[in-house]
Amino acid sequence: MGINCVKVPKRYGEPNRRALIEMELLDSSKKITSDADHLFIPIVREPNDAEKGNLVDVEFLEHEFEEHEKAPTLEDLLGFMPHYEVIGDIALIEADDPDADRIGEALLKFHPHVNTVLGATSPVVGEFRVREFVLVAGVNKTETIHKEYGCRYIVDLAKAYFTPRLSTERERILSWIKPDDVVVDMFAGVGPYSILIAKKASPKKVVAIDKNPAAVEFLRRNVVLNSVDNVEVVEGDANVEAEAQRFAGIADHVIMNLPHNAYDFLDSAVKLIKTGGMIHYYGITHEDNLFDGSIGLIEAAAKRVGRQIEVMGKRTVRSYAPHQYNVCIEVRVA
Ligand code: SAM
Repeated sequence: MGINCVKVPKRYGEPNRRALIEMELLDSSKKITSDADHLFIPIVREPNDAEKGNLVDVEFLEHEFEEHEKAPTLEDLLGFMPHYEVIGDIALIEADDPDADRIGEALLKFHPHVNTVLGATSPVVGEFRVREFVLVAGVNKTETIHKEYGCRYIVDLAKAYFTPRLSTERERILSWIKPDDVVVDMFAGVGPYSILIAKKASPKKVVAIDKNPAAVEFLRRNVVLNSVDNVEVVEGDANVEAEAQRFAGIADHVIMNLPHNAYDFLDSAVKLIKTGGMIHYYGITHEDNLFDGSIGLIEAAAKRVGRQIEVMGKRTVRSYAPHQYNVCIEVRVA
C-alpha cells in the first residue's frame, strides 16, 4: 500500500523537509526517496490548508517507501515518557524534575530542531503571566520564533506569555470572525489571536491591547514579521484603553483571554462591543460551577448598562488544576 508523501523538485527539497519537521508531519520511520528531478518525502498525514502555506511547490500523492531502522523513541531513550512542550526551538520541562538533565539531553537528541531545553522554576505568575526558567541543556536563551497555522511569533518566554496549547482554541475563535469585522483582543500578549485573525479572516481591523511593555514590543515585531497591516497595537491597561471614545461600541468580537481575572474587565468589554457583537470570555472555574457563575457576571455587566446577553457557546478549553478548568463562554450582546 502506498504511503502519503509530498513530491517536490529537488531544489526545494530541503526547505520543505525542514518545514515538514517543524510541523511534525515528516514520517521519520520511512526513507526519503527520489527520481531524477524530484524528492518523495513521506508524511504522517496530509497537511491542512494553513500548513500547506508553509510548503513550496509540492504535490501530494502516495508512493512506496523503505522503512528506516526503527529510531529510538524518547521513551526508549529515557525509560519513561517525560512531560514537556516545544515552543519554537525551545523545549520546556519542569526544573525540579529529578531527571531534568537526562530529559534535557534526550530532548536535544530526539527533536532535531530543538536547540534549548529550559526548566520552569515558577508557575505562570503575576499580572503579565510570565514564568522563570533555568537552562537545562543546549543554547542559553529564552527567545525563539514559534510557527503556528502559517503565522510566526517571536517571543521571549521569560518576558511575555505564550503557550502553543491554545492553538486549537485560537483556530476555533478564528472561525467566528467574518470579513470586515472589527475585533478587540483585550489581552493580546505577543499576538497569537490578533495576528492569526488579521492574517486569515480579512477583518476590517484588530485592536490588540496589552499592558506588558515587553509583550507589546514582540507584538509589534510580530505584526511586521507576519506582514499584517490591519492590527492597531495599543500598550496599556485594557480597562483604561476601553474608555477611549474612538473604541466605544466598535467591536464585532471582543476576546478576553485573561482567564484568572477577566471578570474585572467585563464592564469594559460591554463598552467595546457593538449591538449584536460577541464576547469570547475565558475563565478558570471549579468543576462544580463551570459556567453559571461566569455567565451571571457577564449578564450583570450587560444589565448595568441596560443590555442583554444570549449565550452562544460554553466549553472547557483544558484542564487547569485538580477540579479546575479553563473555560470559554461566548455571548452575543444585544
Ligand atoms: N492572548 C495572549 C495569548 O494567547 O498568548 C496572551 C494571554 S495571557 C494569559 C494574558 C495577557 O494579558 C498577558 O500578556 C498580560 O500581559 C496581559 N494583561 C494582564 N493584565 C492586563 C491589563 N490590565 N490590560 C491589558 N493587558 C493585560
